[in-house]
Amino acid sequence: MSIFEKDILNFDCVSSTFDKLKEYDKDKVLAVVSKRQTGGVGRMGRRWSSDEGGLYFSFYMEKNENSNDIPFLTILCALAAFKTISDYTPCRIKWPNDIVSDGKKICGILAKSLVSGNDITIMAGVGINVNNEIPDDLSYKAVSLKEILKKDFNTDEILNKFFKNLEKLYTCSKEEIMDGYRENCVTLGSEVSVDFLSGNKVIKGKCVNISDDGTLDIETENGICNVNSGEVSVRGIYGYV
Ligand code: ATP
Repeated sequence: MSIFEKDILNFDCVSSTFDKLKEYDKDKVLAVVSKRQTGGVGRMGRRWSSDEGGLYFSFYMEKNENSNDIPFLTILCALAAFKTISDYTPCRIKWPNDIVSDGKKICGILAKSLVSGNDITIMAGVGINVNNEIPDDLSYKAVSLKEILKKDFNTDEILNKFFKNLEKLYTCSKEEIMDGYRENCVTLGSEVSVDFLSGNKVIKGKCVNISDDGTLDIETENGICNVNSGEVSVRGIYGYV
């Protein structure tokens, strides 16, 4: 069944498209889209600024032989978002879940699983800065398509392209998806700083590989360190020098 056979529900304002989507049956509804969110969230419960003019949506993810774990599904969605935004402006993926353009974040993605008994449902949320104003406190790290290209864009068209790209990626092998991600990921080959957010541990080095499980290999002066979480800053992006 094509994902386009399911409903896409549109709202003017919700707390979060993620929470709204949970109210609907995954067999009937594909996605919830809202013109704005009052409580949009990113990783670790951080606030996702969601003023009118942006594209904010959450959707139920298909499960198939490739798409079974959250790191991989995050990669799949990031690649779909990258392909979509690339149609408008040059951009790169910043591991694991952001799309950056002009050295700033234009899109954030979050995939999560909901477990109920033996049933695991996977949902993803996407926020794309399209025509929305970027709040002053985020202007050093966030950018919109409108700010880059000095004109307004049709958010429905962008949404449609995203789902077409996603549907195409569902038919690709895991290898093709990982190769596409690596090719377009700014983190790979860059100097990075990793803050593990616990015990003040920070490492610095060069990202030399993204493994098939989605983790990073960082070459440090003490050898290779494998990283699967934490705050990874990439030299040259949002003020990290
Ligand atoms: P980082 O922002 O350092 O890359 P992250 O990838 O973990 O960290 P996310 O969880 O994806 O971040 O997103 C939340 C963060 O993104 C917020 O803490 C804020 O700094 C930033 N942010 C919030 N709203 C927006 C927005 N509309 N566009 C771009 N960035 C935003």
